[in-house]
Amino acid sequence: MRVLLLGGTGEARSLAAELHQRTDVELESSLAGRVSNPALPVGKVRIGGFGGIDGLTRLLQEQAFDVVIDATHPFAATITANAVRACQALRLPLLVLRRPGWTAAAGDDWHRVADIAEAATAVSALPVERVLLTTGRRDLVAFAADRRHRFVVRTVDPPSGPVPEQMTLLLSRGPYTVSGERQLMSEHRIQAVVTKDSGGHMTVAKLTAARELRLPVIMVDRPPVPPGTETAGSVQAAAGWLQARTAAG
Ligand code: NAP
Repeated sequence: MRVLLLGGTGEARSLAAELHQRTDVELESSLAGRVSNPALPVGKVRIGGFGGIDGLTRLLQEQAFDVVIDATHPFAATITANAVRACQALRLPLLVLRRPGWTAAAGDDWHRVADIAEAATAVSALPVERVLLTTGRRDLVAFAADRRHRFVVRTVDPPSGPVPEQMTLLLSRGPYTVSGERQLMSEHRIQAVVTKDSGGHMTVAKLTAARELRLPVIMVDRPPVPPGTETAGSVQAAAGWLQARTAAG
């Protein structure tokens, strides 16, 4: 069975490592090529966009893929929508692997917002000065007009578009520890945190630190998975789904 695995997440790499051992699966991982020096999955990897729905449809057809597993980041909504459309057109099975989102615990002061624009509005209403922004470099444009707050911005690669006027840029890649996050928030005298609900363990430490420091968190909700799409919440569940498909022939 030829499987195209849309990646760019730790879950995609774990699934690739698991499927790589199976002799009944021919796996190819795909990365967008957005970050410099990406963590590569084991096995065959292609890098770069497909050229929209048409390009993806063509590649799936020409390279005779049997199944697509979309294990991209929960906020990578365009590629997920494209995979849904391409697989529908070719009647190919598609599974979307999405790790669960984060849930608030006792002591958390979370403010959920629908998207990044709402997050910027919520920040502009906050009676604080110093904000930690971890929503990614391409979302900085939403905060560029905010001249009132001082932003500590943490991204993997440097931003290339508009950024907030008052910005301290920290370049780093997770995973992070609670003590490290606490230290960072204390050092920069952070008063509020803005994050996407990415879920997973790699970047969750900031939420524990924010709870301990009693900081408000603006939490951007995930875009929904297109209705009617099969989903799995873990690498094991995705591997099980594929196993059932290969067993069925
Ligand atoms: P996106 O907005 O959903 O996709 C934009 C375009 O990037 C797609 O139309 C596609 O180009 C290309 N693309 C995305 N994922 C691809 C993949 N796995 N293989 C080949 N092409 C891909 O995605 P994004 O938010 O820019 O994220 C890009 C990648 O980074 C994703 O694969 C995701 O897993 C990873 N990532 C994203 C985030 C995040 O916060 N968004 C965080 C961590 C990792 P074409 O139209 O040309 O096919």
